[in-house]
Amino acid sequence: MKLRVIERNRSHVKVNVFTDGALNGTLCFIPDEWRQFKTLVEAEIKELNQPRCEVCERRKKPIGRDSRDNGLCDQDCEGYHMDPEPGTEWD
Ligand SMILES: [Zn+2]
Repeated sequence: MKLRVIERNRSHVKVNVFTDGALNGTLCFIPDEWRQFKTLVEAEIKELNQPRCEVCERRKKPIGRDSRDNGLCDQDCEGYHMDPEPGTEWD
C-alpha cells in the first residue's frame, strides 16, 4: 500500500491510496488527523514489508523497535539474526 498526497493546505490534506500500484480511492483529512493516520499507516507498511523468519515463520520485528509488539519474531528467536536480515524501523 502506498499513500500519495495530492493536495495540501491549511484546512485539509487529500491523499490518494494505492494498493499494488492501483488507485483505491482518495481520502481527505484535517491536518491533525492526517499526521496520526500517516504515522499508523507507515508503521503498518513497514511491518508488512519485514522479512519472514525461516525458523518460526513469523515476520521479523524491525531492529530498534520497542517491545510493545506481539507476534513478531524477535531477538529471542534463533532465526532472528539469520537471513533474511530484519529491517530497520526508521528510514
Ligand atoms: Zn523467528
